[in-house]
Amino acid sequence: MKYSTTFAQQNQCFHSAENTSAWHFPFSTDTLEGPEAIDTAILFVSDIEASLEEQRDGKTIHWYQVIYTTEDGEHTGWVCSQGQQHVSLHSQWSWPGFEVVDNTQLTLDQYFARHMLAGNNVTEEEKSTFQAPAQAVETGPIFERIYQIISKQMEPLLPPKDIPKTMCQPKVQQDLSRFIIEQPTEWQSSKPWSCLDEYMHDEAKPGWDATKEQIDKLAWWDEVNTQAKLNLGSTVMNIHPVALVNNMLKLNKCFCDRDFATEEINKIVKALRDYDGIKNYNLFTSKNCNIPQKDKTYERFAEEINLMMNKYNIDSCLRKAHFLAQAYPESDAFRTTEEYGNDLRYDPYRGRGLMQLTHSGELSGQSGYKQYFEHLKRTDYKESYNKVSDDLSLAIDSSGWYWVYGSAWGNLNNDADNDDLYVINIGVNGGFNGFQKRKAYIQQLIKIMNISSCRNSKNHDVGIYSYKTSRIKDTRYGKNRKKEFESYDD
Ligand SMILES: [Zn+2]
Repeated sequence: MKYSTTFAQQNQCFHSAENTSAWHFPFSTDTLEGPEAIDTAILFVSDIEASLEEQRDGKTIHWYQVIYTTEDGEHTGWVCSQGQQHVSLHSQWSWPGFEVVDNTQLTLDQYFARHMLAGNNVTEEEKSTFQAPAQAVETGPIFERIYQIISKQMEPLLPPKDIPKTMCQPKVQQDLSRFIIEQPTEWQSSKPWSCLDEYMHDEAKPGWDATKEQIDKLAWWDEVNTQAKLNLGSTVMNIHPVALVNNMLKLNKCFCDRDFATEEINKIVKALRDYDGIKNYNLFTSKNCNIPQKDKTYERFAEEINLMMNKYNIDSCLRKAHFLAQAYPESDAFRTTEEYGNDLRYDPYRGRGLMQLTHSGELSGQSGYKQYFEHLKRTDYKESYNKVSDDLSLAIDSSGWYWVYGSAWGNLNNDADNDDLYVINIGVNGGFNGFQKRKAYIQQLIKIMNISSCRNSKNHDVGIYSYKTSRIKDTRYGKNRKKEFESYDD
């Protein structure tokens, strides 16, 4: 069947022209036939109930189930995120479906004429005087589009009383609300309104004069414009508040520049543990973990994770996902904050915290407890090293410090921005320990957190890793281990 749509995935939108086609099974972009949809549509993928993924040429193609309207009613079909004519994916920041309409050429008396004529509120004489100006409005930018939306053909002089009825159709509401209309400001003096003077009947004149007086009292535009030298011109852009808010509201689902809700952290940990086949969802349950019982809750965990991520600028979807993908295995699935084992060679400065802060930091070139405590402006690392594992706040804060300052590879936020798993894996772990699993964790997190639709994501290929796209290939460490890295390539 033919389909036409504009639809949006959380912060991304599909936009299409009319007469686009949708598919039924089996999915293929080659076989399109059937009735045409009569509407264009903007759909937010976060609102779509069913979707499927297809792997094609190493890329993930998304299929979305949509409801569309034809002449004989509503139907269900599928549309494709790529390769479908007239259907496309957009960021919400591209304002999908919004259109700037220039309404600056039509004048108030023309609109007045149309309003009176369409409302059949005119004398015989006025009927002919108003004809031409009304027609100018009728074929002008606003009504031209209204007629396109409601009937596809000119239906001259849609009466004002029918407009509310028309506005009840959700399709019309969506399309009209996405017009950004440029027109003269209403906050100037009553001067532009004087063009209506000649049309006022005697009995209406006192009321009209009072109205103009009222307008003059409310006017502020010219005064502000001159005194503040703002040079604003005399036109404004009218943006529909519902469409504006709706377009941007969906953005909140992305994890950039906002805190995790407790339920979200809970969901993420559960999903990772499900992936690992771990049946218990409680935090820090290992025998060696001395975090106070009252802090072993998801509320406290989310609270400290958010504090830490804000402090160390782990503030985008990719940064958060990469951080969690490393902290999860480093802390044995968030079950401990202290390295397992008896008599480790670097004791008492064994691995502690979510990123296993290790080493005293006293040897030259070493980065460890000493440096972390210095960062906190504390000198008591020799007495208080065990707090890094036993105090939830330090256990989590130390991991943020390690992420930014502790690794020999520099601030890992930069590598997370580039989705450079190979550098991050080596930067946190120091070697190839559990490399394959760490790769699986970030790929899981990219799905769980829906990062392919992150508003800041530069490309849609996140979660695909190779030696040649990593900056590791430019380092001596990487060059010496080319084969080993390449064995993990997707
Ligand atoms: Zn994001």
